Amino acid sequence: MTDRYAVFGNPIAHSQSPRLHTEFARQCGQDIAYEAILAPLDGFAEAVAAFRRSGGKGINVTVPFKVEALEIADRLSERAQMARAVNTLRFDDDGIFGDNTDGVGLVADIRDRLGVDIDGRRVLLLGAGGAARGVILPLLEAGAAALMIANRTPERAVELIAPYGVRAGLHAGGFGMLAKHEFDLVINATSASLSDQSLPLPQGVFAAGSLAYDMVYGKGTTRFLADAREQGAALLSDGLGMLVAQAAESFRLWRGVMPDIAPVMAMLRGD
Ligand code: NAP
Repeated sequence: MTDRYAVFGNPIAHSQSPRLHTEFARQCGQDIAYEAILAPLDGFAEAVAAFRRSGGKGINVTVPFKVEALEIADRLSERAQMARAVNTLRFDDDGIFGDNTDGVGLVADIRDRLGVDIDGRRVLLLGAGGAARGVILPLLEAGAAALMIANRTPERAVELIAPYGVRAGLHAGGFGMLAKHEFDLVINATSASLSDQSLPLPQGVFAAGSLAYDMVYGKGTTRFLADAREQGAALLSDGLGMLVAQAAESFRLWRGVMPDIAPVMAMLRGD
């Protein structure tokens, strides 16, 4: 019998998830159906319960429901717990398991596709919204020697690292704290690129040979990537690989098989 999955969000029409998971299923010979569901802003939990009652096996969750998804999970992975956000739910016989695959998706894209080491590197994460919170633990687990989180509203960045307690190399604040620091890896998790806005990064932030990574995808060379190139970043990447890799990790969580990411990336880029 065909197993049903879905992505829940509001809005949801733009989602690439049905295309990604349908392709993964074809590649891995898995019999699944995957749809996009527009949940009412005040009716996420009921919409998920109805999907589960109708035989659904699991869901992805996107804006603005990632925190509500945390609340309806009976059990959480450590990375979801630390992020205080869930993007994947699996409906098991004994309850709902919640996970957050955004961070492993990012780490896999940087390490495996781009071939850039995170272990021992100085990492700067820009932004403190939903996307940033999911990637902190995976970046630390990947061995980042220093992780600085800078946000336009500094308190939000400080809040994000509170669950980690005092930890050597982990700092948060506003953009002002970046003066005289340089990083091997600069990750833009703000939505500034969506409105073509520059971030106030001081000169010298990009170390020689550094990677500038914008989580935004489908926008070509974003303002952040163009600025980074001008300021000396050696490698540039958008966030398409993260999108595909986080989806692949969700698929693995549900189906127990890991799809091959490369052909799906090529399909999305229209190669
Ligand atoms: P969000 O929760 O709305 O957070 C937005 C963040 O951007 C906040 O930290 C906000 O700062 C900051 N920001 C917005 N405009 C800014 C500006 N002009 N200057 C400086 N900072 C600005 O959004 P999100 O869910 O974290 O998503 C962020 C981006 O990541 C989106 O563009 C999304 O498409 C992308 N994303 C990609 C993937 C992927 O798989 N590739 C996954 C998740 C998200 P304040 O706190 O000061 O408001």
